[in-house]
Amino acid sequence: MTDPIDEQAQSLPEGESPFGTTGVALVTGANSGIGFDIARLLIEHGITVWVGARDPEKGASAAARLGAGAKSVQLDVTDDASVAQAAQQIGDLDILVNNAGVNPGGADIEGTTLEQLRLAYETNVFGVVTVTQAFIPALRRSAHPRIVNVSSGTGSLEWASGPNPQFDWERVRGGGLAYRSSKTAVNAVTLFTAQALGDDFKVNALAPGLRRTNLIPGMTAGGDPAEAATGAVRLALLPDGGPTGALWSWDGTRAPW
Ligand code: NAP
Repeated sequence: MTDPIDEQAQSLPEGESPFGTTGVALVTGANSGIGFDIARLLIEHGITVWVGARDPEKGASAAARLGAGAKSVQLDVTDDASVAQAAQQIGDLDILVNNAGVNPGGADIEGTTLEQLRLAYETNVFGVVTVTQAFIPALRRSAHPRIVNVSSGTGSLEWASGPNPQFDWERVRGGGLAYRSSKTAVNAVTLFTAQALGDDFKVNALAPGLRRTNLIPGMTAGGDPAEAATGAVRLALLPDGGPTGALWSWDGTRAPW
């Protein structure tokens, strides 16, 4: 296998989607926020999208709003049986977007409980691993397998200890231990998954930037989640010569681990 980390690639290539109008995607946690917009934009590109939602009613409602091209599937990323059932129902898959995530709060090392850490890791890390493992067999059957892990710029260790174009790290220094370290783990899982699956797969992580979603109840700060979704879609539709095993900002520029 060639080195999957193309050190020269500092921005995503522009190119035609390799799928035409025949691709099939699964977006976890697609009933709201960034995931909903990822589903919407993939459908606009002609992709059939399985809208993963842990609450089937929310999933059905989101799929109805998305219209033709959307199908809903019950999928709780923390529930092995739910993930296995979804994999059976979906069958063939080209694009997996691991978007579902939680921020259970907490502050710095002294202000975070193990319970908050466990909640963050259960969904954001173990959920990504469980879903990825369940869908690797289907993705191996695809001519252009793609995995997009929705991470966070708050999990970049380089951005946490130096200039950070996305977040005011000086203000949050040491804070958000549970959520941010879970996203650091997502970055590691992304790199090692890319290395294990080889260059036929394109496995990348996204730093979406601060977005107004349901992630933190009452949060009013942040930009349009649709803007972040454009970055996920570029990773989902990467051409075969595109990069794998890297973290990307929503605007298509390379972000440091
Ligand atoms: P959101 O609106 O709360 O969306 C999160 C989605 O994940 C919801 O659909 C939620 O379902 C789902 N989810 C949570 N736990 C799940 C589980 N166990 N199984 C299946 N689905 C589950 O927030 P968002 O901001 O769009 O979050 C999407 C991703 O972006 C997350 O990975 C988040 O960490 C990441 N992110 C967000 C920001 C930001 O500023 N918003 C910044 C960086 C990264 P329910 O509706 O049932 O709760």
